[in-house]
Amino acid sequence: MSFQELGLSEAVLHGAQRMGYVDPSPIQLRAIPVILEGKDLCGSAQTGTGKTAAFALPVLSKMGHSIGHPRCLVLEPTRELAMQVETAFRDYARFLDIEVALLHGGVGYGKQRSLLGGGADIIVATPGRLLDLMQDKTARLDKIEYLILDEVDRMLDMGFLPDVRRIVGACPQQRQTLLFSATIPPEIQQLASWCLKDPERIEIGAHRSPAETVNHAFYPVANDQKNALLEAMLKRIDFDSVLIFTRTKDGADRVARVLKALNHSVAVLHSNRTQPERIDALEGFKRGRYEIMVATDIAARGIDIAGVSHVINYDVPQHPEDYVHRIGRTGRAQNVGDAFTIMVAEEYPHVKEIERFIGQSVPRLKLEGFEYKYTALFNEETVENALKNAKGFNTGKGMRFGSARGKRKR
Ligand code: AMP
Repeated sequence: MSFQELGLSEAVLHGAQRMGYVDPSPIQLRAIPVILEGKDLCGSAQTGTGKTAAFALPVLSKMGHSIGHPRCLVLEPTRELAMQVETAFRDYARFLDIEVALLHGGVGYGKQRSLLGGGADIIVATPGRLLDLMQDKTARLDKIEYLILDEVDRMLDMGFLPDVRRIVGACPQQRQTLLFSATIPPEIQQLASWCLKDPERIEIGAHRSPAETVNHAFYPVANDQKNALLEAMLKRIDFDSVLIFTRTKDGADRVARVLKALNHSVAVLHSNRTQPERIDALEGFKRGRYEIMVATDIAARGIDIAGVSHVINYDVPQHPEDYVHRIGRTGRAQNVGDAFTIMVAEEYPHVKEIERFIGQSVPRLKLEGFEYKYTALFNEETVENALKNAKGFNTGKGMRFGSARGKRKR
């Protein structure tokens, strides 16, 4: 089915065409008719599936033109996601007179107040700043017709669910609500039952499986060789742009310092950086001014950067779903990407959790020509036995090593 057959308005179709979209993605095919029909929706889809357009195109189609007060509210967990979604709405609404206001912390209130005062039709916001602006009545939600709660599992992780409930409570009962979340743990199920009415459920792909267009592998190494291995990987791979994830903000700063000393152009993205620094990092990385971006996954979750050729996990993600999200940064929109995860012995239990979560074992690779020091990880059965003896940890079968490829043909 083509975009034309989905029932979107002409102006919105033009907007999508201008973005270069030819065929709807699977989530768009499923979600657009449901949303156009006016139903509530609870959706889960992998990142990079075209989720934003799946909700933005039909909502814009239904809104039609400006009435001069907010009718659509989109909640996002991070500033970066809010910025990205606001840009998408503006792009799709290019041929409509709809106004979009972006509200998030870390910047002054002046512009945001004037956008709201100017009669914005759509608000894209992070919860904290929206609540601030609701308090002094600058942001009014009493005429919201479309409420979109995006990346709700991340809102939960970040402790935003109470804020989200307050915001939902300030919206009219009579509205269409769309909730998107990669996973639906009980807390989110509760929120969904409270704020959705007889929702249609849409699940695209198994959200547990990493995007099929990503090649991924673990690289075991001794703790004190992590930087050396990272350096060797960067020398070896034929990268255009690399996204490196670290577990902590300090870790991101440390890795960035090491890479800068090696003369790489490096951007750093985490929540302790100022808003101008975060914008510079993201924009600079997108435009190719920085070849590497080091980020914590809280900051980088869901961010759409075209052409990330490689993702490197400097640390093994502690939540298995973060593994899927992180490596989903590459291989977006059907491009093939590579994702490498550096692992040290104490991270082994997390590795096994990831494999259980995604239901597949991930190859262990050694970088050819790298002078490895010994680590117990080279014989995983020993590690498994030690863990079993120590904590009764059940790990399944041991792994054998393959060898890393150098440059890959695309
Ligand atoms: P999202 O999952 O919303 O972050 O979208 C991922 C990327 O896919 C974005 O760069 C979109 O512009 C792009 N995209 C969304 N829908 C389509 C489509 N139907 N055809 C081609 N690209 C798309």
